[in-house]
This record gives sequence, structure tokens and C-alpha cells, in this order.
Amino acid sequence: MKDILNFTRQDLGNWFENKGIRRFRADQVFKWLYLKLAGNFEEMTDLGKALRGELAEHFSLGTLELENMETSADTTKKFLHRLEDGEYVESVLIPEKDHFTLCVSTQAGCAMNCKFCLTATTGFKRNLTTGEIVGQIREARRFVARQGIEPLTLSNIVFMGMGEPLANYENLLRSLGVILDTDLGMKFSCRRVTVSTSGIVPKIIQLGLDTEVNLAVSLNATDNKLRSSLMPVNNTWPIEDLLSACKEFDMKPRNKITFEYILMSGVNDNDAHAHALARLLAPIRAKVNLIPFNEHAGAPFKRPSRERINAFLTILLDRNMTAIVRKSKGDDISAACGQLKAARID
Ligand code: SAH
Repeated sequence: MKDILNFTRQDLGNWFENKGIRRFRADQVFKWLYLKLAGNFEEMTDLGKALRGELAEHFSLGTLELENMETSADTTKKFLHRLEDGEYVESVLIPEKDHFTLCVSTQAGCAMNCKFCLTATTGFKRNLTTGEIVGQIREARRFVARQGIEPLTLSNIVFMGMGEPLANYENLLRSLGVILDTDLGMKFSCRRVTVSTSGIVPKIIQLGLDTEVNLAVSLNATDNKLRSSLMPVNNTWPIEDLLSACKEFDMKPRNKITFEYILMSGVNDNDAHAHALARLLAPIRAKVNLIPFNEHAGAPFKRPSRERINAFLTILLDRNMTAIVRKSKGDDISAACGQLKAARID
């Protein structure tokens, strides 16, 4: 059976039309799936019993099995989902002042092999389907609704979970279609959706042409030697190519590209690195997110001292850059940046 969450609104309309059913039925179904967050076809009461039966015969509704949920001291929640073929992915629900942000995965495992990231140690399993990507968001919204932790709404999405979103480009775009559908879909504003990449240059430019979502780039180093040693993707697309794609990236005049820069003690965190970073990003409409390294057993790096982090930040601010230190949430449950591994619990 096919998962109905794999179908865009267009696909679903076509499916109905082929069956000789009027297209507006697809819109009704879509609304049940993404606005009313229906758990099964029976709930779709304005559809007629026969049609509901037919849908249930042809489609499954979502495939993610919630295997485990952990809650951090800061109330961040990490969901471990089992996929149909036995692979696992995680998503992280992060409480902010007046909303939730969901950190979504796009692949089971990851092939980028960044030396600081725990996900890399699991290797690459496979791309997630469109249904598995939107399914994570649907499940999180259902969770928020069930818990009655509204009026806080899940309004922001960051594609910063497991995997490299731009290496699963087609399914990323199809899922964005559902996420950004402001009519009957999930109604996320494109200003509140961010796609993060380790630096797949050709796809960065394509993303700017195809969508209006925010771009984040994991930079992490200011020279090619260091960046290549940390992030093998830099051997294919070195810093110059990455930054020229960023300059070309099509975005609204007041938008900025976020550059993520993990601070690792003694690796990329001295004053000269900060000055180099400011120099590199000067020609780009950029904001810098400094992420103090989240320590884990899969990598030897250490988080710098608070003083070092502040000194680094101060240099950027003194050079008139927009920069913040991003406080990673959920580190006590391994839900922080670079800590997603999605191991089965035994
Ligand atoms: N593959 C995409 C999406 C993942 S985003 C990308 O690389 O952008 C995950 C972010 O967490 C990246 O910015 C990465 O640089 C950062 N990260 C990875 N491991 C980390 C760690 N141990 N501590 C802090 N940040 C980490």
C-alpha cells in the first residue's frame, strides 16, 4: 500500500480524476491530512462511506512508528521514529518563547561524513520519502495538539536533523510543497522554514530559484585545509565556490543567510579565525550562529571556555556582523546539534 503522505496535492487530484472522482475531493482529503491532522480515513466524515473505504483500501496514512520519546530538562522533546523498513530517524521539538520549532530529518543516517557530527558515525542508510518528511511534522503537530500545550503552535521548521537535505532534493521540494501550502496544507510561512546544508553548491543555487525558504550553511572553518579535514564535502566544493553560490542565492532584499560555525577548542576558535570569518562573510548578507561544540563519544573535540566563546563573538560584533551564540537545547538527551544518532533502544 502506498502512503498517502507521499502525494502532493496535485498528485492526489490526479489520482482522484483517474478514478472518475471530482478533483475537489482531493482538496478535502488534503485538508483532513494537514489541517485537521486526521489519524485515519474514517474520520474524514464529509467524504462518504464508500470513498473512505476506497481510500483505506488503496493507501496507508503515515508510516512512522513512534518508538521512543525523551524529554530534556529544558522540555525539548526528541522523537525516535521507526520506518517501515526498520531504519530509524529522529526529530526534535524545541520550545521557544512563543512557539515551537521542529528540527526535521531528511535522511536515515548521512553520507557527508563530517568529523564532528555523531550522525556521520551511523553511515548513510537511505533518503527519506516525502511522506516520511512531512510525517515527522504531522506527528509533532498531533503531539502538540494532544498534549494541549497550545496556544504555543508549531510554527517553525528547521531542516537540521539527520541527513543532508540538499542530497535528497526532490523529496525536500515535494515536502516543502505540502509544508508551505497556505491554502489547505500545513500553512507554514516560508520565513519560518530554514534548510541547512553542509555545502552542496549546485543545489544551493537551485533552492534559491525553486523556493523562498531561508538558507543556512554549515561553514565551521575559514580555510580550505581545515574545512576539508572536518567536512569532506569541501574537497568537492571549496569555500570560494560555496561563498560565491551564497552571493548568487536568490532571496528577498532584507533576508540573510545563516552561517553555522561550531566552536571547537583549539581547532577553529582563536582570534585570527574570528577575523578571517568576518572578512570572508563581509561581502555576503550573512548572520553567524556560533554553536559551542556539543561533546559526544563519536568525536575528540572539546567545547571552548565561556571566555573564549565570548571573545570570538565580540570580534564579530565589533566588525559589525550579525552574530549570536546559539544555545543548543536538549543536550542532556542527545537532542542537540550533531547529536542525533537514532539508535534503536533495546
Ligand atoms: N547536513 C546539514 C543539516 C544538519 S544541520 C548541515 O550540515 O547543515 C546540523 C548542524 O549541527 C550543522 O550546522 C553542524 O555543523 C552542526 N553540528 C554537527 N555536529 C555538531 C556538534 N557535535 N556540536 C555542535 N554542532 C554540531
